[in-house]
Amino acid sequence: MHHLFHSACPLCHGRSAKHGLCRDCLQDFSALQLSKEHCPLCKEPSIHGNICGACIQKPPPIDAFDASFRYEEPLRLLLTRWKNQGLMQLSSAITELLTAYPAKFRQPEKFDYIVPMPVSRLRLIEHGFHHTLLLAEAASHVFNVPVLPTAAIVRQHRPPQSSLSSKERKNNLRHAFTIQQAMTSLRLLIIDDVSTTGSSINELAGSLKKAGAARVCAWTLAKTLLHD
Ligand SMILES: [Zn+2]
Ligand SMILES: [Zn+2]
Repeated sequence: MHHLFHSACPLCHGRSAKHGLCRDCLQDFSALQLSKEHCPLCKEPSIHGNICGACIQKPPPIDAFDASFRYEEPLRLLLTRWKNQGLMQLSSAITELLTAYPAKFRQPEKFDYIVPMPVSRLRLIEHGFHHTLLLAEAASHVFNVPVLPTAAIVRQHRPPQSSLSSKERKNNLRHAFTIQQAMTSLRLLIIDDVSTTGSSINELAGSLKKAGAARVCAWTLAKTLLHD
């Protein structure tokens, strides 16, 4: 019975080969993929997939951004259970999704390190596990690039971004990241689960650039579309 529970797909409870999603559910996620007609810097819809007006007006510190899916059901439910309810047994289903639908950047990218979105100490205790580190380890296999040690960046604890307006989000994160080592000439790929306004990714990318990084790209499993 115990074994049966662990090999059940967390979405449909059908049989899955590993501790992850069944083949049908994994395939269903292709419907949540973002089309090519999106800005390569913020992934919001744009004409012919060109850089959007907002990014031309105020270029973000990020060099390229991709998200595998729109942040909609059933992904939202899966991520909420995983992160907020601390259901670590969903990790394999989630990392499987990440590796099955890898980031596709406009131009070929080479990276020196994968950077898991830093998590504050308090949040780490709340969640019970380092969720973005698990994503980074999966991404590390996709790109065949090592994960930057988490001690390299310290994140101060701030109120959760999800509790704030888009304007408050930017101020909330100002100077939230302390880069503990030189990033001179490094090409980095930030990994996170969800991007809403892109504030945390852009704040981190800016801090990494200030520490010397040559190129900073980002990949998230999901993205909330602000303009659909
Ligand atoms: Zn299933
Ligand atoms: Zn844009």
